[in-house]
Amino acid sequence: MSCIFCKIICGESPAQILFRDDLVTAFRDIHPIAPTHILIVTNRHIDSVNELEPEDESLVGHMALVAKQLAAQAGIAEDGYRLIINTGVHGGQTVIHIHLHLIGGWLARFALK
Ligand code: AMP
Ligand code: ZN
Repeated sequence: MSCIFCKIICGESPAQILFRDDLVTAFRDIHPIAPTHILIVTNRHIDSVNELEPEDESLVGHMALVAKQLAAQAGIAEDGYRLIINTGVHGGQTVIHIHLHLIGGWLARFALK
């Protein structure tokens, strides 16, 4: 198993884990770009959005609801935050295991188009 996120999920590599259930694990990004930068990662290895199947629909919805809960816990829900899933080379994906970035705690001054 060479995937760093799979290693974190199984406890082989360290991370600051904030949440875990049957479907996802959430931990702090090792190189945060904002005061709150959390990754919500599927427990099952899925490379990217490109590999999602119709039966994964509720899993992706669950990722968003866990992000909502963690945003509230972090105290950034009211001010707002970004949820980002980078996909593939042009999407800037560097870890090939699907993950949702929860980024907030500062005012985003640029818009992603
Ligand atoms: P992406 O570029 O969308 O694939 O995002 C990958 C993210 O994973 C980056 O923000 C990295 O800082 C983060 N990352 C890489 N390795 C680790 C790790 N061992 N623990 C926590 N976050 C990591
Ligand atoms: Zn993995």
